[in-house]
Amino acid sequence: MNDRCREVVNDSVQALHALAKLMPLLTSQSSLAGMLETINRTLGSTLAWISMDDDAGMQRVICAGNLSCHSFDITHFLASTLLQRQHRSWRSIYWKENVGKVLFTPSHPGYQHLQGGVLCKLADREGKGNGYFLLGFSQRLLSMPTLKHVIVVLMEKLSDRFAEIVARERTAAEMQRVVTHYKILFERAPVLMSSFDRQNRCVLWNAECEKVFGWRMAEINTHADPLALFCPDQEERRCVRGSLNALPLNDMYEWHPRRKDGATLTILWSNVPLPDGSILNIGLDITERKKAEQQLAVRAMTDDLTGCLNRSAILQRLTAALESERRQDRAHPFCVLMFDLDYFKQINDGWGHQVGDRALVHFCDCLREISPASSSLGRVGGEEFLLLLPGATSAAALTLCTALREALRTSPLQIGDKALILAFSAGVVDVRFGQRDVSLLLTQADRALYDAKRTGRGKTVVAVDYL
Ligand code: GH3
Ligand code: MG
Ligand code: MG
Repeated sequence: MNDRCREVVNDSVQALHALAKLMPLLTSQSSLAGMLETINRTLGSTLAWISMDDDAGMQRVICAGNLSCHSFDITHFLASTLLQRQHRSWRSIYWKENVGKVLFTPSHPGYQHLQGGVLCKLADREGKGNGYFLLGFSQRLLSMPTLKHVIVVLMEKLSDRFAEIVARERTAAEMQRVVTHYKILFERAPVLMSSFDRQNRCVLWNAECEKVFGWRMAEINTHADPLALFCPDQEERRCVRGSLNALPLNDMYEWHPRRKDGATLTILWSNVPLPDGSILNIGLDITERKKAEQQLAVRAMTDDLTGCLNRSAILQRLTAALESERRQDRAHPFCVLMFDLDYFKQINDGWGHQVGDRALVHFCDCLREISPASSSLGRVGGEEFLLLLPGATSAAALTLCTALREALRTSPLQIGDKALILAFSAGVVDVRFGQRDVSLLLTQADRALYDAKRTGRGKTVVAVDYL
């Protein structure tokens, strides 16, 4: 303890000077801890603390000085019988010496060290007590000090400010808590959240974005136009930019950006305007869901056994093909083939149902192998198949049937060491330009097929105008 401080503590004039010096300093303080530090420094004390109840009734304890003082030391001290014994209306209490002994346990360094001390009740504007202030010194207070009055005056001036700061700091802590919650939400929510500024810089990019797109924010911002990473196509980029302002902000729309590894994603996006005028992009990665939906749609159209289209899918395709033919202004060749395996029941009876199944698969495989890419094959019944041949005439269909018979002969179905050569009959219809009636077309194909069966099987018949 230097002489200057000794003087401040025990000399009335010095104490008043110190108070005069202190007041302007405190106005500029923003935090309670800062204010307490300033008081300590100016008045030469070793320890200063405030204990206040905030609006929510929570006790706030703030300490400053060379001695560490825990809030439980303070709580314990304030609840001690010593204070309870005092007359209820006391405003301040001072200790000439040994204040450390009432404040601390014997093992605490302050127990011996702290000598003089002043404890002052704080009161709000209505005079309601809302806290305590203590100033502790490493030296004795020699006489009834002016210091005690100085501190009472000081607290008169400051207690409202203290209450304001406690409330402000509590609001700030509350804000910080909310900010932390949102930060965690932003980082951990399984939702894509990103934002780009007017210069196209990425300013927000959460962990989900990093996971789904594969890019980190720093990597994105090394590119002159970050959007190009996700939309290599310039026209698409233009549309995406335009959509930011044009699309309804609360709707979600589908976007197909690229991942870092080149894979195409399906993302549902929405734009959320923020109070500062920027836009937050919120998205859901639905790539897997979309794939599953597509797989389901394909399954719903596929024949389980042979993998070709099922009955309803091939008939739909035929309807669509007739429709598009009709829209053409010129006739394009288009023909339809109906197949039926010969004596198939005998295969089932002689070889068993499983071999029958394998025979159906084998027939389809051979047919697909030699059919043009533009064709569509569907299973319309047990061992009946329909092949659509856009761009082909019945002559081409006959050639295809000859090739199929040859393929079935040269690549028979192997059952152990036995070879099963499949035979079939077929009916062909040349679709006339403008023909739209699917059932009439099927009847024509059926009749041609029936003629093939009736006249000996193992052959293909081209439908003439039956009706
Ligand atoms: P045809 O030469 O006159 O066409 O005689 P077919 O024996 O081929 O014709 P039929 O209509 O008498 O018999 C068809 C058989 O096909 C009867 C049915 O049990 C069988 N079948 C239908 N669907 C399946 C299937 O998915 N698997 C198997 N193994 N057999 C099937
Ligand atoms: Mg049949
Ligand atoms: Mg048959």
